Amino acid sequence: MSIKNNRLTAEQYEQNFSDIHPPFENREAALVEANRCLFCYDAPCTKSCPTSINIPKFIKQISTDNIKGSAYTILDANIMGGGCSKVCPVEKLCEGSCVYNLLDEPPIPIAKLQRYSTEKAIAAQWPLFQRKPSTGKKVAIVGAGPAGLSCAHVLSREGVEVTIYEKESKGGGLMTYGIAAYKVTPQFCDDEVKFITSLGGIHIKYEQELGRNVTLAELQANYDAVYLGIGVGVARSLDIPGEELAGVEDALRFIYDIREKGYPSVPVGDKVAVIGLGMTAIDAATQAKRLGAKEVTIVYRRTQAEMPSTEVELNLAKLDGCSIIWLASPKEVRGENGRVTQLICNVMELGVPDTSGRRTPVETGETIALDVDMVIKAAGQIPYEDLVQDNQLTHWYGKLVINENCETNIPGVFAGGDCVNGGKEVVDAVQAGKDGARAILGFLRK
Ligand code: SF4
Repeated sequence: MSIKNNRLTAEQYEQNFSDIHPPFENREAALVEANRCLFCYDAPCTKSCPTSINIPKFIKQISTDNIKGSAYTILDANIMGGGCSKVCPVEKLCEGSCVYNLLDEPPIPIAKLQRYSTEKAIAAQWPLFQRKPSTGKKVAIVGAGPAGLSCAHVLSREGVEVTIYEKESKGGGLMTYGIAAYKVTPQFCDDEVKFITSLGGIHIKYEQELGRNVTLAELQANYDAVYLGIGVGVARSLDIPGEELAGVEDALRFIYDIREKGYPSVPVGDKVAVIGLGMTAIDAATQAKRLGAKEVTIVYRRTQAEMPSTEVELNLAKLDGCSIIWLASPKEVRGENGRVTQLICNVMELGVPDTSGRRTPVETGETIALDVDMVIKAAGQIPYEDLVQDNQLTHWYGKLVINENCETNIPGVFAGGDCVNGGKEVVDAVQAGKDGARAILGFLRK
C-alpha cells in the first residue's frame, strides 16, 4: 500500500472530474421542463429557498425565452445563484418542496433551469446590474466568500465603495476552495467572482488576512463600517493517538489541493478511510476514489438516520464505490516508519438524544481495525476562537454573536455567514450577506 499521485491518465482524470450536473442538451429540453411548472401561487419552492428567489417567475421567463430577465430574477435575489445551482442540496430545499412531489411525479429540475440562465449570464458577463450614484461611504469586508461577496454586491449597487480583504489568492471562499471539483469547476468560480465584481465599486485585496496583514482597528479607522464574513475556522482535530502520522490529512486541505494543484499532483492512498459524513466528507471520499484510490471507506459514528449529508450525496458516494461503516468512531491511528497503516475504531451504539435531538453514540467496548494507508479527517471545523477573542468580539464558543441588525458587540462592526452560524449552506451565507448589507445601509444613513 502506498500514497502516490499521478495514478490515472489525463483522459481518466478528465472523465472522473467532469461536471456531474450536465446542462440541458438544447433549448427545447429546457422549455419542456419549464413548461411543466404550475407557476404556483405562494410557491413552496420559493418559500424553501433561503434567498427567496422568485422561482415560478424565473421559470416563466425561461419559457418565454427571456433568459436575461430570468438571470436577473435569480441573481437579484442571490448573486451567487449560478454557483448555488450547482452546489445547493436542492433535494431538501426548492426541489424537495415542489408540489410535484405530492403528485408522485419528478419535481421541476429547478437547479438545472437556474443553471440554464445563470451560466449564460456569467459566461457572457452580462451587465445586468447598475450602481446608484456614489454615497461617499466606504465599507471594509473581511472575506471574499459567499457572505462577503453577497454583502459587497448589495452595498455597491447602493453606491457604497467596498474593499474586501481576502486571505487567499482567489475569491469565492468555500465555493472556490472547499467543494468537489466535479460539482463546480475552478474556472466557473473565477468567472462568478469576476461577474460579481464587474459591477464596479468592489475592490478585492488578496492575501490579506485579518490579524496578520490588517487589524480590525485599522479597518475601523479607515472605513465607515466593517463586515466580517470570515467563515468557519480550522479543521476539528480527532484528538486520538497517531493523528500526527504521515498519511493523515484534513479533508478541506485535500479538497483545496485538488482544486489548486490539479488532479495528477495530489497524492492519494490505495486504501483510504474518511472520518465523518457531512458534505465535506462525501466530497473528500468521492474525490479520493476519482483520483484513483482502490478502496474508500467512510467511517461514521451514528447511523444513516442521523447523518448530516443528504441521501442524494450518500448515493453519490455509493455509486462511486465508497463503502460506509456505520456506528464506528476513530480510536487510534497506527503506523510503521511514521506512516499510517491502520485505523482502529470503537464500535458504537446509540444512546439517549443530545441537545440537537440526535441520539448520542456510546462505545460498546468492541473495536474494529481497518488496514489503510491514508486517513482523511472530515469531522467538522471549529471557529476562529483566538481571532475573535483577540479582537474583543463577543462570541459563543468562537461563533460571533450578533444582534438583530447583524451588528457585533463593537458598534459599526457587522458579521454574518459561517462565522456566526458555525457553517451552513452557501445559499445561507449569501442571504446572511444580504441581511448584513441592509443593516449596514441603515447604519450608514444614521
Ligand atoms: Fe413550479 Fe414546483 Fe415551484 Fe410549483 S412548486 S412553482 S410547480 S417549481
